[in-house]
Amino acid sequence: MMRRNELAGPFQVNSQRPPGFVLRERGQDFVLHCEDIPLPKLAERYGTPLYVYSATAIRERLATFNHAFRRVRHTICYSVKANSNINILRLLARQGCGFDVVSGGELERVLVAGRSAASKVVFSGVGKSRDEITAALKARILLFNVESESELRVLAECAKRLRMVARVALRVNPDVAADTHPYISTGLRKHKFGVPINSARTLYAEAAGSRSLKVAGVSVHIGSQITDAAPFAEAIARVADLIRELRSNGHKIDYVDVGGGLGIDYQEPRLKFPDYVAKYAQAVTKPLRGLKVHLLLEPGRSIVGPAGTLLTSVLYRKENDGKHFLVVDAAMNDLIRPALYGAYHEIVPVVQFGDLAAKKETVDVVGPVCESGDFFARDRELSRVEEGDLLAILDAGAYGMALASNYNTRPRPAEILIRGKSAKVIRRREKVRELYSAEL
Ligand SMILES: *Cc1c(COP(=O)(O)O)cnc(C)c1O
Repeated sequence: MMRRNELAGPFQVNSQRPPGFVLRERGQDFVLHCEDIPLPKLAERYGTPLYVYSATAIRERLATFNHAFRRVRHTICYSVKANSNINILRLLARQGCGFDVVSGGELERVLVAGRSAASKVVFSGVGKSRDEITAALKARILLFNVESESELRVLAECAKRLRMVARVALRVNPDVAADTHPYISTGLRKHKFGVPINSARTLYAEAAGSRSLKVAGVSVHIGSQITDAAPFAEAIARVADLIRELRSNGHKIDYVDVGGGLGIDYQEPRLKFPDYVAKYAQAVTKPLRGLKVHLLLEPGRSIVGPAGTLLTSVLYRKENDGKHFLVVDAAMNDLIRPALYGAYHEIVPVVQFGDLAAKKETVDVVGPVCESGDFFARDRELSRVEEGDLLAILDAGAYGMALASNYNTRPRPAEILIRGKSAKVIRRREKVRELYSAEL
């Protein structure tokens, strides 16, 4: 019989996935577990496709972040858009986490998860409406990350009407390239985000001139799924220069919001997560040394990504002119990352038989949606699985359910949160009727 590590291949050695997802021996076989629960049991009880999250993994990843930044004053403001399930927000809020929201809807989710979290909310986004701004003012959030001169004026008007003072940071665009997918790179001049760092000083002067605004910080966010520390260091070095200049002009800069964007290992195992985050922390904090700022961090993907899996069943095996397909019951509407970004997700059979481990085949893993873009893997070498078997699409905790849709009138999956031996339905599966009831 093969040893566990050989059998599990890269999955087992990717040190970012445990404690959430591990293979455990069951007789001759190995079964993928989320914490202490075998995934086949969840599939049986709740059906597939199914999102499964590990509460322990989420908590540990947040703790890892906090530990890496322990030497500086900081607040983690989890980026709600990565996974906005209220139960996950509540879990994070209980650990003292703050939140980065990009809409009034996300703010409402945070307030439902825990009213007291409002004091640790930052509001980002290039197109905040007056209603959203007003709601955020009423909730007394920590900070508005303002992205344009017009928004600054609207924020001042809304605050004035409520006789309140809004704390503001300007989101500056540092014109730094990050090696990531073009759709999720945000820190270049050509992008719609932020204000050019060179025109920021004029806007800070304008903000300081308003009695309804209080200049409180600088913010920057250069993109997502960035696995190299250098662009972060470069962007923050530019921000540090700006802070020195703003302070010398009399502005009070207490907060530096360094955004999110730390990538995860979808493919190749790299450093252990604590070492990886420590490196990131060093890149972020070094340029700010001596400035005595309160750091705000907005990680999303790196907190929840590896803590979630999309569990799916093989509906059909199919061969077209020598090409092999596994048609599964999950589709691009459930997890759009492969279709949208050409993203890679590791896919593993949930039950791995000792004696069949060597039997590999090259397949496309595809969903039932009527688009050729509806795939999870192309020409992927997988251990042979049969119709009815379960596959786990790994690292699906971030931008999975959050980006899910009802395309093809497909109900979105249920979501289950695991803690040790306990499983909690944190979102029940939608019913088809709910998908069209607003049309009747
Ligand atoms: C998307 C986003 C984040 C989170 O990015 P991750 O890559 O998930 O860490 C943080 N801040 C802002 C402003 C964002 O738009």
